[in-house]
Amino acid sequence: MTESSETLANLSTEERRFEPPKELAEHANLTEEAYAEAEADRLGFWEKQADRLDWETRWDTVLDWDDPPFAKWFVGGRINAAYNCVDRHVEAGRGDKVAFHWVGEPEDDTRDLTYADLKDEVSRAANALVELGVKTGDRVAIYMPMIPETAIAMLACARIGAPHTVVFGGFSSDALASRLADCDAKVVITSDGGYRRGAPSALKPAVDEAVQKAKDNDDHEVRSVLVVRRTGEDVEWHEGRDVWWHELVAGQSAEHECEFFDSEHPLYVMYTSGTTGKPKGILHTTGGYLVGCSYTHWGIFDLKPETDVYWCTADVGWVTGHSYGVYGPLANGATSVMYEGTPDTPGKGRWWEICETYGVTIFYTAPTAIRTFMKWGGDIAGQHDLSKIRLLGSVGESINPEAYVWYRENIGASRAPIVDTWWQTETGSIMISPLPGVTAGKPGSAMKSIPGIVVDVVTEEGESVPNGSGGFLVVKEPWPSMLRTLWGDDERFKDTYWSRFADHGFYFAGDGAKKDDDGDIWLLGRVDDVMNVSGHRLSTTEIESALVSHPKVAEAAVVGAADETTGQAVCAFVILRESALADGEEAPESLIQELRSHVQKEIGAIAKPRQVMVVPELPKTRSGKIMRRLLKDVAEKREVGDVTTLADSTVMDLIGKGMKSGTGDES
Ligand code: ATP
Ligand code: MG
Repeated sequence: MTESSETLANLSTEERRFEPPKELAEHANLTEEAYAEAEADRLGFWEKQADRLDWETRWDTVLDWDDPPFAKWFVGGRINAAYNCVDRHVEAGRGDKVAFHWVGEPEDDTRDLTYADLKDEVSRAANALVELGVKTGDRVAIYMPMIPETAIAMLACARIGAPHTVVFGGFSSDALASRLADCDAKVVITSDGGYRRGAPSALKPAVDEAVQKAKDNDDHEVRSVLVVRRTGEDVEWHEGRDVWWHELVAGQSAEHECEFFDSEHPLYVMYTSGTTGKPKGILHTTGGYLVGCSYTHWGIFDLKPETDVYWCTADVGWVTGHSYGVYGPLANGATSVMYEGTPDTPGKGRWWEICETYGVTIFYTAPTAIRTFMKWGGDIAGQHDLSKIRLLGSVGESINPEAYVWYRENIGASRAPIVDTWWQTETGSIMISPLPGVTAGKPGSAMKSIPGIVVDVVTEEGESVPNGSGGFLVVKEPWPSMLRTLWGDDERFKDTYWSRFADHGFYFAGDGAKKDDDGDIWLLGRVDDVMNVSGHRLSTTEIESALVSHPKVAEAAVVGAADETTGQAVCAFVILRESALADGEEAPESLIQELRSHVQKEIGAIAKPRQVMVVPELPKTRSGKIMRRLLKDVAEKREVGDVTTLADSTVMDLIGKGMKSGTGDES
């Protein structure tokens, strides 16, 4: 066995460092001491974080880990998530504070909701759900655009202890039908539609279809469909099943006495992105989850609720929209922005216009969005006043060093620190991240586990790898916001996350990572995506980042395709920046060769792509992650696999048509 086949090769290097701004460091919510404090007494540290919330009954035991991997946190505690997100702020005299500046996609369609407004609306919606017969423990599906009623619906469910399952509004009726049946949801909350790309986009027809499909395929009966009127378009109506939100909810009392639930009461089921295959129904419970969201939102984003205006661009259809769009910021009494539409409607500066209008100070988005802005090029953001932005965040994929630097310079005025936050639907909240007031950031590295979390990179045998080496990312100790199981499937839960390092009791995240010479962590992509080229194990992330560092490239995806001589060969798909080619011009062969050589120069001959294909788009999940397995099908000339979790299912045709491919013989 060659040395390089033991662990992931550590190929690229990054020398740039960005110190935290002095002013931020001086007043930071989380300081260097937090690491030592958490290390000295991890459970005590979490108890302190749990005290950020209001408990009706305090817990008697912090953690019950007697029956791993089934954890119980804050055992004996009783809490209500909606009360913590809404009522307690009103009771503390902050009812007039804005909870959401909501921005519809059509221009001048805005609405501000204060915490007092939110309390009334959530109470009405909770009363309405009770009238529909929803009981504590019943599941409610939410299939909505990004409108205030979506957050209200989630909180109303939480208030009565009915776990919600939010399904991304861009998903098909098939995806909705299988989720309805999987978690046995009897009530669906939806809307006639929402606005996308300048036009109404219907949702209700997909619900009608999904309800029918769930019945036909799984004999699953949906009792009620609660419909918000948003676009005013005609909808088909099923008497006896369908109910208008404005008719049922508006007439309810704005008083609703909330009940407190066991800390381990289920809060929601969220299906993962489906980047790697069939989505998994992740179960989160109440107390620990809320502790994780509230602590990290306060600490990692350095939230100052009195002065900050915070915007997380994630759709509520994925976990970031839950933890950092709803539960984290509301638990902390923050003022947030919520936007309904796409970033390019009516123009490519829409996001920056919103940041300027509301004076956004903390901005959290995904690398895919940042790379899209890089692709558009020009000085679109520069036309807006972004001077209030003081902190930037990134989540969902590794942020390529080039994209990091672009983000920092163009959105953060070369001043705002970037928190590259690694976490998963399963982890519930941020696990690895720089601390904005402590860490000197390195472009491309998520740095190290945050205080309270114990993450490591280990070998196949579960041994911690030395600095400079790569391996498997694991979590060594339980944490409050960890998933409790996969909905209805304890065996798959154990198998997927806890079997690989069963002897050590580690949680296996499925991601590969490396430690650099300072011991800082670099995420390298899915372990399943690791390529084996002539016995060398190469990560997708590093080669992609090398491609993105070329001035003509905006986005890149790399896969290993079967190769007769090398076992696997590197195949790259790239999207060029708009400035790279003249209108209608095809990518010349010389550019393809230049890109191949660029990777060789940045990383080494072993990583030089066999093929570089210039494509107009890449297949992405709803949360913007690249679906490499579909590209692998293309590279290996197979029929393309399951595309049901693609955000836009026409992309694969586009790739087929618009593909300009170049190969080389040497290397
Ligand atoms: P599925 O598990 O169904 O394939 P998914 O893993 O894409 O879907 P999510 O839970 O939304 O669904 O994504 C979590 C994954 O996203 C992580 O395991 C990791 O691969 C990636 N990720 C998230 N944040 C970062 C980050 N900051 N750096 C690198 N990778 C990240
Ligand atoms: Mg995953």
